Amino acid sequence: MKRIVLVLALCLSVQLSAMDAPLDPVRLSSLAHRRLSRNALHSAMAPADRMVATETRQRSSPTNIVRTLALALVVALLATGTSHASAWQAAELFTCSMHPHVLDMKAGTCSVCTMALKPRAMTPTEKELVDFVKAYDAAFVAKDLAKLATMYAPETVVYEGSGINRGWKNYSETHLGPELKAFENLEFAHTNVVPHVLGDDSAYVTADYMIKAKTGERLMDSGGLATFVLSKDSGFWKIRHTSTAARRRPAGGLAD
Ligand SMILES: [Zn+2]
Repeated sequence: MKRIVLVLALCLSVQLSAMDAPLDPVRLSSLAHRRLSRNALHSAMAPADRMVATETRQRSSPTNIVRTLALALVVALLATGTSHASAWQAAELFTCSMHPHVLDMKAGTCSVCTMALKPRAMTPTEKELVDFVKAYDAAFVAKDLAKLATMYAPETVVYEGSGINRGWKNYSETHLGPELKAFENLEFAHTNVVPHVLGDDSAYVTADYMIKAKTGERLMDSGGLATFVLSKDSGFWKIRHTSTAARRRPAGGLAD
């Protein structure tokens, strides 16, 4: 989706650069409106870009405004990269040939010896764990508490920031259940899911997460780091412990 918008924005900016003054500003701005909603464009921009765009609008002709906005959109899209909920990650991991416990989803260097990490296919168990997180996300977005119940060990301990829930009963009844019920327009996903298999029946998974939801009048747009500790019980992975930490917000809070 983002790629389509990016291509459209590129086409628009190229087109606008190619045909200068002769174009009627009214036609131009309706052309621009058809292709991009200015509001969507505005919220896609970083605050600094927004200030530039606002200043530009005050002292430029409509042609220049549209061109600037189109270019700013291209820059913003390139800067934000792929969206959180886009294509699920490839079934490969990057690791060090000397330190096989060093794992990452992307190329980089070994944290022990600094050698370049090399890609390798995931093992069946690693794939199981990634699929587990994928299924977890789907159940969460579907607010399927019954499915989520099958994914937690009864004795699970959940850390969310400095908050603690002990046991599935407590977590589901006093935290997760009411929270899911209150969320509207819920988006939730893990990315950069790295499965670390510790033994046949034990593993931990590290990941990034994002969550967007509306609760009453309050808009949540958050994300951060997550760790799952899992053990296998009768052939099924169960969450024994999770810990999530929201990333720090820039001063000023939410933009929109
Ligand atoms: Zn190494």
